Amino acid sequence: MNKAFEFHGIQINFDNSYARELNGFYTACQAETVPSPTLVKFNRSLAEELGLDADALETQQGAEIFSGNIVPPGAMPIAQAYAGHQFGNLSPQLGDGRALLLGEVIDRNGMRRDIQLKGSGRTPFSRRGDGKAAIGPMLREYLMGEAMYHLGIPSTRALAVVATGESVYRETPLPGAVLTRVAASHIRIGTFVYFAVRNDVESLRRLADYTIRRHYPELIGKPYVELLRAVAARQADLIARWMCVGFIHGVMNTDNVALSGETIDYGPCAFMEHFDPATVFSSIDERGRYAFGKQPVIAQWNLARFAETLLPLVDDDSDRAILIATEALETFPEQFAKTWSAMARRKLGLVRSEADDATLVQDFLNAMQAGQADYTLAWRYLADAAESNPERLRSVFGSDMTKLDEWLPRWQARLARENKSAAEIAADMRRVNPYVIPRNHLVEEALEAATINNDLAPFNQLLDVLSDPFTEREAAHRFATPATSEQTAGYRTFCGT
Ligand code: AMP
Ligand code: MG
Repeated sequence: MNKAFEFHGIQINFDNSYARELNGFYTACQAETVPSPTLVKFNRSLAEELGLDADALETQQGAEIFSGNIVPPGAMPIAQAYAGHQFGNLSPQLGDGRALLLGEVIDRNGMRRDIQLKGSGRTPFSRRGDGKAAIGPMLREYLMGEAMYHLGIPSTRALAVVATGESVYRETPLPGAVLTRVAASHIRIGTFVYFAVRNDVESLRRLADYTIRRHYPELIGKPYVELLRAVAARQADLIARWMCVGFIHGVMNTDNVALSGETIDYGPCAFMEHFDPATVFSSIDERGRYAFGKQPVIAQWNLARFAETLLPLVDDDSDRAILIATEALETFPEQFAKTWSAMARRKLGLVRSEADDATLVQDFLNAMQAGQADYTLAWRYLADAAESNPERLRSVFGSDMTKLDEWLPRWQARLARENKSAAEIAADMRRVNPYVIPRNHLVEEALEAATINNDLAPFNQLLDVLSDPFTEREAAHRFATPATSEQTAGYRTFCGT
């Protein structure tokens, strides 16, 4: 800690319940000092939501805090323990290898939020890693989190990105950075797995109780299987929201599933362009385990791993525990289908529910696949078709419009039974089908400019457009346009290490 630095009225009201209540679940740890921290990006509106003094933090002193050079009063930096299944294989010990939880604050809405540094140096969980992060992936996490937030999808968010002034070594030297991440909490399925693999039932109970108090207070005093049901319901909702906008997480390991129901860990994630459920962007996902269309099945697989950790809490008799947990999870596919159908119905402009709606949704997807239609624009321009202007919609279906042309009259007949004006329906549709999403080629362009040329302008522009994704306007047009097929063809994402 740099003692020469005075605190000029920066007050962060930390209240560190995890450190206080869960002794044995973490290691207290300090960030590594960085040579010359500079604030590259600061999220003022999030700071205000957290009740922090944005003016005081958007300063050199803020850079010192968000790099880990200064520990603000009241913070208690800890590296949290967790395990996880990576691509299906159990790693009994992962943990915060390059992150430190500074502490928790209660935001303006009374919600408890974690403030975490990511890329702040080695911890006892670092294994062979350097504990550091490069600026590109940290800006990417900033951008993606904000995009998700503005799309109405639960997500961790970034408060700041600080350039450290030192290089981190990947395949080449890259500018180093630290991200400050804000999350409802960092409790993961993997946190439960960590204690389950150690047969530490007492810790599991403490963790389950803490999780219930923090995220599911309505379950206090209820059987633990209710926690499983509640977590499953939030996952169903989250994954359905991802599917609504074509989001592919890319690395849905159990250590990257937050019990709060927020999207967490924006490593190799990306948005689908033309609709194809087999779409995979991550370079390490060679077998397509985390392909777009597999996300609901993987969510269920992850929930099954969570259920296993809860068995000793569910019932003393292990056979009975398995029975109870299985019964609670068995309904997940149905629950997901219902959640997705309700959301997709709204995307189609339907409010009432009819028996054939799910088929209507599926057939629209089939038409998109046949026409290699851009997923975002196909949904968006469907609103035009509700107002009898199908031209833009047809233009994104390329050469194969057979299925679309067969489908449109069925949908229009169905719309007629909504008893609403075309204008009303179209307006409702435009409120749920975004005009802009983070297009992969634009994200890369922005990150490249920031990393290589130190030019934040493209990043800031993109961020600005993504803060209002549902409004069609001239200034957003360029950002709404799909990549050319050459740009899309070889697109690969890499884990943000
Ligand atoms: P992730 O792929 O970011 O979800 O991380 C998986 C695990 O690897 C976590 O335990 C991380 O803390 C750890 N990890 C990732 N990158 C690094 C790094 N550069 N140094 C140390 N640990 C890391
Ligand atoms: Mg992770």
